Amino acid sequence: MDLSAWLDRAVERHRTWEEGFGPHEVHPSLHVEPDRFAAAFEELGSRLSGSYPFFHPRYAGQMLKPPHPAAVAGHVAAMLINPNNHALDGGPATSALEVEVMEQLAAMVGYDDHLGHLTSSGTLGNLEALFVARELHPDRGVAYSAESHYTHERMCHLLGVPGHPVPVDGDGRMDPGALEELLRTGVVGTVVATTGTTGLGAVDPLHVLLPLARAHGARVHVDAAYGGFHKLLAVDRATPPAAPAPEFVREFVPEPAPGSSDPGPPTRESAPGRAGVGPLVDPAPWAVLGECDSVVIDPHKHGLQPYGCGAVLFRDRSTARFFRHDSPYTYFTSRQPHLGEISLECSRAGATAAALWLTLRLFPLTPEGLGAVLAPGRRAALRWADALADDPDLELYQRPELDIVCYYPRTEPTTAPRVSAAAEAVLRAGMRQGAADPVFLSTARVTAAAFAARHPAVPLEGARDVAVLRSVLMKPESEPWLERLHRRVGGLAREAR
Ligand SMILES: *Cc1c(COP(=O)(O)O)cnc(C)c1O
Repeated sequence: MDLSAWLDRAVERHRTWEEGFGPHEVHPSLHVEPDRFAAAFEELGSRLSGSYPFFHPRYAGQMLKPPHPAAVAGHVAAMLINPNNHALDGGPATSALEVEVMEQLAAMVGYDDHLGHLTSSGTLGNLEALFVARELHPDRGVAYSAESHYTHERMCHLLGVPGHPVPVDGDGRMDPGALEELLRTGVVGTVVATTGTTGLGAVDPLHVLLPLARAHGARVHVDAAYGGFHKLLAVDRATPPAAPAPEFVREFVPEPAPGSSDPGPPTRESAPGRAGVGPLVDPAPWAVLGECDSVVIDPHKHGLQPYGCGAVLFRDRSTARFFRHDSPYTYFTSRQPHLGEISLECSRAGATAAALWLTLRLFPLTPEGLGAVLAPGRRAALRWADALADDPDLELYQRPELDIVCYYPRTEPTTAPRVSAAAEAVLRAGMRQGAADPVFLSTARVTAAAFAARHPAVPLEGARDVAVLRSVLMKPESEPWLERLHRRVGGLAREAR
């Protein structure tokens, strides 16, 4: 896709549209001499060149990647008009686009009916969900796992709602037993489940937590800001979606049993022998997503969008009553509900909706559409986990559930303080300015107890927490690059030793 050509086309269309309203003059106060613009623009360009290369597979650090060119073109095309989706008065065309993308997100979630809108971020979406939690259960608190995003604790504080962290199991998922114990005390009105924690990509067992919450009269909000689109990978691509999902294959590369139908040589599509074998993620938690009360999904994480695009959905349309307000400034041209009437935010870029709408025209929310963009990163994570199983330089921290892989350098002797120091050294060495073969990773600090639960043989030597390396393989380009990444990080770990 030639982005320059489509940006030109956006500008040209915009000019034609403007001309339809008759001639107008741009005010002289807005005039800028071309030379001055060129100089300032060059300066900006050089300032931006200090960024990390999020686009490149050698960047395997945080949850960052550029938007798809289609999202950029869609964003620019609408941004030239600069609609505001707060009210139909501000963005009649882009509000309609927002309603359509929310219908698509609701269908993916599994909601028959919904109330929803885009938000500036996952944080704002979660705030709205917890605000509704408080309005529905003013006398009860909110439970979230100890590994959930810090925003939940913070928003509970902001809302004046008691927050209850729930311990996690040995894989970083909310412990159902601990939740049940808490629910029995009657202090919880809403349970926040995270399907894809920001640190490890751990998926809380929604299918277990949901019935527990229901049994105690509690609601369930799902923070799927990071993981939401992985629902598209929870289907067995070898069988029609209507068929019952087969049992999730944890190791994922089954040896074909003698006499069983041989899948044949791996094709580009099926390499590395995983696609078409079974679902790429455990389908069980995702199967009940549509029964939960609210969901947050961030299209600016795995939906190919530029920042400024989160989404919140409520299963009960009547939730709108909690947002009701009047505005003396807006809501004039229509009796239809305005998006600002169901949200806590006021101004929101209509361009965000346009960008997502155009992207979803090209990458629909199906396994073959956007799912095919997420699948390579997931396969890469599984393959890396397999490769790390017997690696002399690196040790897998825990098996990935999505596309986030955590691992640590082997040290001699391997102790928690040495692991932390080596992880920091690998991080720094990989991204050193001017390094010949740079690699960009991130670290995650895990508690000593969490580390010990997974690696009991490693002495803690009094460490309170341990830094492990963390790689978010959220770009499809990570899959073909994986061996290079593995080699390079392994080499850095050897050097650190
Ligand atoms: C990223 C993230 C958030 C916060 O969303 P922002 O869009 O960064 O505001 C909340 N929860 C989870 C699980 C996340 O991964």
